[in-house]
Amino acid sequence: MTGMDEDQTIEALGATDLFAAFEEPLLLVRDRRVAIANAAAQALLGSHIEGSDVRLAIRHPAAAPHLTGEGESGEGPVRIELVGLGELGRPWELVIAPLPDGSRLVRLADQSQQRAAEQMRVDFVANASHELRTPLATLLGFLETLQDEEAVDAATRQRFVGIMFGEAMRMRSLLDDLMSLSRIEAERFAVPRDRVELLPLIEDAKRSAHPLATDREIRIENEAGEAIVSGDEVQLSQMLSNLLVNALKYGRPGTPVRIRLEGVPGDLVRISVIDQGEGIPAVHIPRLTERFYRVDPGRSRSVGGTGLGLAIVKHIVLRHRGRLDIQSELGAGTTVSVSLPRA
Ligand code: ADP
Repeated sequence: MTGMDEDQTIEALGATDLFAAFEEPLLLVRDRRVAIANAAAQALLGSHIEGSDVRLAIRHPAAAPHLTGEGESGEGPVRIELVGLGELGRPWELVIAPLPDGSRLVRLADQSQQRAAEQMRVDFVANASHELRTPLATLLGFLETLQDEEAVDAATRQRFVGIMFGEAMRMRSLLDDLMSLSRIEAERFAVPRDRVELLPLIEDAKRSAHPLATDREIRIENEAGEAIVSGDEVQLSQMLSNLLVNALKYGRPGTPVRIRLEGVPGDLVRISVIDQGEGIPAVHIPRLTERFYRVDPGRSRSVGGTGLGLAIVKHIVLRHRGRLDIQSELGAGTTVSVSLPRA
């Protein structure tokens, strides 16, 4: 195709065709009237807005002068936040850009995802602060009592120190988990590609979990064979350990926890950690990987849970472009499986 043909093709496309290609609401305003409204704009503002006064199409007093061109718009586009178009409460950003011929290009950007992400960040900081404040308040309370040497005898002092030690450990686990989470998130776009042998990692996780397993009277049965996946060894080890610790914390004493490895179609390896605990009610399953989401907060805290274990697992799996499945049957137990790409 020659240069001239290309120019002609672009001319022939026309503004309406270009507008139609955009998924977000887009308008062209000329002499206060809506000259073009793409399908998304018509869906939002009404199917008959082409030709009508733009101040009727977008009823917003602060935006009106900029939409008609009577306001001082300066060089660049004007941005205005507004709520109340279409679906109730959905936030939009109105971007009005003056064009050389005096007409205006008006774009409506849906802000709901951004707002939801901001809200999540705010909630996360509030939750993390709350989780840290609780053990800190306990520590301060006991320290205050201990300051008065005559008020506490040696045995009580010993008991208090034990409790304080437990609370400090809880704060440390929480900070460790928060730091892991932020490290994993920071690397989320870099897919790890080391060759990782899973069997030794499973054996390590089993060894580290041995004291907890003994405490909970649970036997860990490793049914895994050899398998090599493509990934990050440190993170996969943390993932296995989190899954195993959960199975031990929530499994039923006297029943085994099994670790299984199997090949699945698509050149994946599936690792499953299977317990015979009381299971998880189905309504909770989709939310378990949210930070600080717990089915039973009291129980989770009493077994040393931070509420971040499965959030960490989810982020590790996402970074590995793998898959996480949680299946549970009330009274029968829970199986958490992760599928990872074979090396
Ligand atoms: P926690 O530190 O509270 O264990 P996780 O993020 O690891 O946090 O898990 C979130 C919640 O999911 C737990 O509080 C618990 O209610 C539930 N859960 C996780 N694993 C299991 C399991 N194997 N059996 C039953 N419930 C589980």
